[in-house]
Amino acid sequence: MAESSDRFEFNEENNQDVELSTGFKQWKILSVEDNQNYQAALTSSLASIELPDGVELTVLKAASVYEASSILNAHKDIALILLDVVMEEDDSGLKLVKIIRDELANGLVRIVLLTGQPGFAPEKEVMKALDIDEYWNKADLTLDKLHSIVKSNLRTWNVSSQLAEAKQGLQLVLDAAKSINSRYDLPSFTRAVLTEIGNIMGVKKGGLLCIGNNENPYKDTHVLTASGCYTAFEGVAITDSQLVDIRDDINQAFEQKQHKIGAIRSVFYFETSHINEKVYVIVVTSDAPITEAHINLLRVFSENISSGFTNIALLNRVTELAYTHLDLNIPNLNWLKKEIQNMSITERQETRLLMIEVKYFDEMKFTFGYEFILNLLKAVYLGLCATFPPPARISLSGHKHFSILIATDIPITQALIHALTFGEFKKDEVVHSTSFTLLDMRLDSVQYTTPAKLISTAESVLKEAVVNNLSYIQNTQRQIDEMSRRYHLMGELRKAIRERKLTVMLQPKLALSSNKVVGFEALARWQRDDGSFVRPDEFIAIAETSGLITKLDTLIVEKTIAALQHLCALGYQIPIAFNASSFDLLHTDYFSKVFNCLSQAGVSPHLLELEVTETQTITDYEKIKATLQKFVDSGIKISIDDFGTGYSSLSRISNITAHCIKIDRSFINQLEQDDVSQHVVNMILTLGKKCDFTIVAEGIETEFQKNWLRSMGCDIGQGYLFAKPMCLEHIVNWLPLQNNA
Ligand code: C2E
Ligand code: CA
Ligand code: CA
Repeated sequence: MAESSDRFEFNEENNQDVELSTGFKQWKILSVEDNQNYQAALTSSLASIELPDGVELTVLKAASVYEASSILNAHKDIALILLDVVMEEDDSGLKLVKIIRDELANGLVRIVLLTGQPGFAPEKEVMKALDIDEYWNKADLTLDKLHSIVKSNLRTWNVSSQLAEAKQGLQLVLDAAKSINSRYDLPSFTRAVLTEIGNIMGVKKGGLLCIGNNENPYKDTHVLTASGCYTAFEGVAITDSQLVDIRDDINQAFEQKQHKIGAIRSVFYFETSHINEKVYVIVVTSDAPITEAHINLLRVFSENISSGFTNIALLNRVTELAYTHLDLNIPNLNWLKKEIQNMSITERQETRLLMIEVKYFDEMKFTFGYEFILNLLKAVYLGLCATFPPPARISLSGHKHFSILIATDIPITQALIHALTFGEFKKDEVVHSTSFTLLDMRLDSVQYTTPAKLISTAESVLKEAVVNNLSYIQNTQRQIDEMSRRYHLMGELRKAIRERKLTVMLQPKLALSSNKVVGFEALARWQRDDGSFVRPDEFIAIAETSGLITKLDTLIVEKTIAALQHLCALGYQIPIAFNASSFDLLHTDYFSKVFNCLSQAGVSPHLLELEVTETQTITDYEKIKATLQKFVDSGIKISIDDFGTGYSSLSRISNITAHCIKIDRSFINQLEQDDVSQHVVNMILTLGKKCDFTIVAEGIETEFQKNWLRSMGCDIGQGYLFAKPMCLEHIVNWLPLQNNA
């Protein structure tokens, strides 16, 4: 039933002014009333209500539940509803309340029920359940009363909606904090910061974030990240004319070291000076003035940003430690790996790796000490930085080598090679000359697996250059192929040894005075399945580095003993020498293996000799002397091979358990041209004789060499002049032709 005759009366009432808190520009009241006269009186009386400065009241009107619902739907920010209970139906007002609270889920709007018929007043429980704030009899409403009710409800709404907004804002800040805290690198962190500031402010025109150095913020600062209207400024230096409009704000932030939050433009200032010397300034501009609530949220959020910058600075510091040589503060191997890892395929195709190793590094370290080495490395690094400015990337990738990543279009000229392989470095007013081995390798010359493998390939090639005493080596496909060839050879060699496919050649040794054959040297030969031969120098080196050498040598000894057995059966009692590596002699059961084999074959130990190189003997002498002694005790003679190439002095050699010295063939083939070689050979002969060694000269190729050596008293000769290494069948045919009577 509709109320039709209710009069609106104003009962004067004393009422203190209520201070309404500021915040919103427009407060909305909805009057729902089917009596148009009453509604007109009610709404016009609201016009005289006192409101805080800057607040405007908008009064909306509805005459039915339906109309009211659609207005409420369109205006979510209505603060107060003055609601007539009885309209189309007796409980229309209560129905609308249900819709507002349940369907529209608007818990904030204040609802004041008005009725002309007190009998229709809802129960207390219903008021509570529907969250109805007040209930008034129209007849009791004076103007003051109305103003007081409206003001107090508006104030309540204002506070609770601010609280709700703050809650929402806090949630936003929490989400924003979560979002920025999951970024560990500066660019993505700063991008997230700008986005989240925009979210918190609701609207945003654009923002930019500058990064600079505390020491000189004006000069060094540039825009790291930008969004919205500032997007084009990314990377621009603060001194750039494009930034003229906001430069004052930025400079002010640097000077005052604090945030400056304004209605349209806010400037935030951060620094991480306790970790590094970085300063950050964020400038954000919104398209509408921001509210007090936004400002509070921004202040809270700026705390999060601040700790975010600190975290990233700390993280960078930790990263720096992992990627830097600590004493020298130079990027290290980890850093180099990371740089290569992060390269795109095209970048790799356009990049060259130079690796330079300090020659005689260990000797210098031993002689001059660690501090000298640090100074040297630092000086080399600075020199490289001067030669290769950024974007070249320089690192100390090993304890004695640097790696430089440069573009392939930088030419490696002779002058550059010279500059990189010779250097001078001054310490305590003394100029030290240093030399380097340089490797030049295109990254795409190695099939890509991992940065570690790539670097290790480069290191192997560099090592090869160092071993071969080269100053410059280019890592070509040929070398890579060579490495993989050696790798395959190792597999093949393993198989060949297992299948006993290695053979023995015998090279005669002749007494120089009588030309009689006094011995042979057994030399290993390996013919691959495809018929090609691999040079002994090569496969012996592969066997030594892959742990196959003892198996190989044992096989050769067995074949040597078999040859001895064969020759003995033919009536030749001529000793054969076999080569042993010091690896063999380090095995405790090596001697017994050889000796058992000899016993089983029924061959006298006097017919077997062992050759071990001078270098190996001296380096490992303490460890191998017991085994050598066992050979000597059993009657097997020992020769020191390649004598003169090592660093033993004759005085040291006199202590070594051996019977024979073989002068290295490098001295023999120089005899004709070189006085020094003659002198060395002469010394070896003189002193060797004094120590009772039999002296063998190997590699005799000319009559001159033979005659000279004989005249100097050398006992035995071996070389192509007499015979090349031959297989046993050849030896059997060759021996009867010799003057061996
Ligand atoms: P080595 O023990 O010094 O052997 C002598 C090398 O000089 C042999 O090379 C021999 O063929 C070569 N030679 C002999 N006379 C002349 C000559 O007049 N002129 C020139 N230019 N060369 C001559 P080969 O057979 O190539 O062996 C090279 C090295 O391989 C040997 O040097 C030895 O260190 C190693 N080797 C060979 N067989 C074995 C083995 O069974 N075990 C071990 N551990 N090493 C072996
Ligand atoms: Ca030898
Ligand atoms: Ca030799």
